[in-house]
Formats: sequence, structure tokens, C-alpha cells
Amino acid sequence: MKITDLKCALIGDNPVIRICTDEGISGFGEVEQYKPYIKPYVMHLREALIGQDPRDVERVMLRIRNRGAFKPYGAAVSVIEMALWDLAGKAAGVPVYRLLGGKVRDRVRCYNGSIRPPMAGSGPEDYAAACKWMKARPEGFSLVKMGVAFHSAQKRDFPGFSYADPTDSPFHGAYDGAPMTERGMAHVIDCVAAMKEVLGDEVGLALDCGPGWMPSDAIRFARKVEKYNLAWLEDMITGDYVPYVNADVYRDLTQSTSTPIHTGEQIYLRQNFKDLIETRAVDVVGPDPCDVGGIAELKWIAEFANLHGVLMAPHGTGNGVLGLAALVQVCATLPANFIAFEYPSGNHPWWYEIVDGLPDPIVKDSLIEVWDRPGMGVELNPERTRPYLREEDADFFD
Ligand SMILES: [Mg+2]
Repeated sequence: MKITDLKCALIGDNPVIRICTDEGISGFGEVEQYKPYIKPYVMHLREALIGQDPRDVERVMLRIRNRGAFKPYGAAVSVIEMALWDLAGKAAGVPVYRLLGGKVRDRVRCYNGSIRPPMAGSGPEDYAAACKWMKARPEGFSLVKMGVAFHSAQKRDFPGFSYADPTDSPFHGAYDGAPMTERGMAHVIDCVAAMKEVLGDEVGLALDCGPGWMPSDAIRFARKVEKYNLAWLEDMITGDYVPYVNADVYRDLTQSTSTPIHTGEQIYLRQNFKDLIETRAVDVVGPDPCDVGGIAELKWIAEFANLHGVLMAPHGTGNGVLGLAALVQVCATLPANFIAFEYPSGNHPWWYEIVDGLPDPIVKDSLIEVWDRPGMGVELNPERTRPYLREEDADFFD
């Protein structure tokens, strides 16, 4: 089997790729909806794929892996990795989880890091209302994640939140950290208390916090919220689009508190998790298969983390419904340190109409039953997808 073409179409806001072969089957993969601009970067990898056997996934990856980088540029390589696994599974007539070593669980747990109501403000009552809404969702999520501090409007809305003005950069995760004021930190803690009041001990609460906390503020905050038994504090020091890790600073933070510390969504490749995991600089890692280099890359990191007593909670909020399928496949195979993955939803309602293979409902009691169809098991339906193709992508299925 040989790869004959690579195509990339913007469907809604998600770049979707198709790897075509000389045997008439294709592999698909989807990039986060936040990266519609990545298409040319995906397409520059086309030449390296043509003529290769897609079933030799690692051999193909060795040709392109050095063309990726921390978020957002790891996405181009990652999406190809996932489409290769989709193809390899279809060629063998088996679900991808079998090619990754087989499943260790029949249902995978997900958490809600993105399905939230619009918030009127960023005070305790607004957070409490959002948590009430999230707790009542039909998916029955057992864990929800909320953005606070530098990962929220609080840094702008709350007067005197920090000692600096937030950046006006249009890019999410720009370097807008700052030392926090006493009142700024007290405000965040009030919001945590309000959320816990609603969620109780029935639904776990994780906080997406930054990046951008000064280490001393991060330590003080993590200690102050110990009594709330939070699931984790995410990306306090680095994270999101920060193109480095700072494992040693994370280690200081993690060793200073019993509140679990989490990072990893922006990190590309296993090598860049080495210090974090080997020095146990965080309690939980959260790579995103659509950024880290793919699902086999994520599995390797999970296994290595498990050896070192570090937990795994993959990121995935913008990965769309094909990205959801990839998360289901890989998370079925992860070791015991797996907590839950971040549930991606289609960012337009019609996404659920243009794919075949998703169960209905998808999530029950925060769990997704692992499906057994070949490849990733969720497929774009060409007839129903065509109306959503842009003019320049009209030949995507040809
Ligand atoms: Mg995050």
C-alpha cells in the first residue's frame, strides 16, 4: 500500500486531513478548531509522505517528526500521525486500539473542560452558576474544569487583580503573567469556594490557571486551596502556547503543596516530557494528541509517567469529533495512571450530522463505550460533508 496524496480542508474551523492511498482507502485526522491557519504547514509535509506505506506508521513519522514544534506547530505532524493510524486500522480491519496493544478498559472516562454556559461576569456567583449548569449536563461529567486567574477574564475584569496590565496581544496564552495582588488572589479563592459549594464532592473540580503565575504566588495559592481537594491546578507556570516547560520551577511548586499540579498541553514530543516526569515535577501530565505528535506519542508518555507515579489526563478541548475518536482509541489502551481525557465537542451542531460511527448519546455517566469499528471508527460521510466544504476544498473527497 502506498500513499498517493495528502489533502487538507477547513471544515467549519477545524483543518481536516485526508491521506489517500493506491488501494482506495483513506485515513482522516482533525486539528483543533483554534488553528485554521495551520493548513499550509500541514501541506508542506505532503512530499515526504507520497510513496510511503502508511501502515508503517513509525517509519513514516521518522520522515516528518522533526518538522513539528510546541503548540501550534506540532499539530501538523500530529494530525498526520493520527490519520496514518486510521489507515493502518482500516487496512488491517481492526480498531486502532488493537494496534496500540489492545484495550485495557471497555469504557473511557472524559471530563468537561469546554461545555460551559456563557458567563455574565467572573465573580463567585458567575462561577457558581456555570458549575450548576455543568453539573446538570446530561453527560453526567464526574469532573469539570474551569478557567481562573490568568486563564480567565479575571485578569482584566477584577480591578487591581495583578501588578501589571494584561497584554493586548490577540494571541491566547501570550506572556501576560504578573505578580498578583492580595485582593486578586483572594478573589480567585472566593470563586473556588463558590464552585465547590455547588459541586460538592459529587463532581471533581480542576482549575485551568495560567500560564503566568509567579512561582511564589502559585505556591501560596496551591496551599490555600488544599482544603478544597481540587483535582488539579493546570498550567500555573508555563502551558498553553508557551514554547518551553520550566520543569525545575514546576518541581518547586509541586513539592510545596498537596494540591495536584498539572501541565503539558502545549508540549511537543516525549523528549520534552522527560524532565517533568523523571524529576516528578508535576503530579499530572496532560499532552494533547493533536499537539504532542499523535496518539502513539501520547501512549508512550503515559507509560513513562506511570513508571514514575505521575498521572495522565490528556487535553483535547478543540479537537473536534474526529479528535474525540482518536482520544477514545488511545485512552482505551493507557495504563492505570489514566484519570480522564478532556471531552472535545463539534463546534457546530452539524458536525454530528456529517460523521458516521458516533454513539448516541456519546457520553453516559462521564464514560464513553469504546467502539470496535476499524480505524478510528468515526468517519466523515462524503455526501453529508460536501455542503460544508469551502470552494477551494471542493475536491477533498475526489
Ligand atoms: Mg489548559
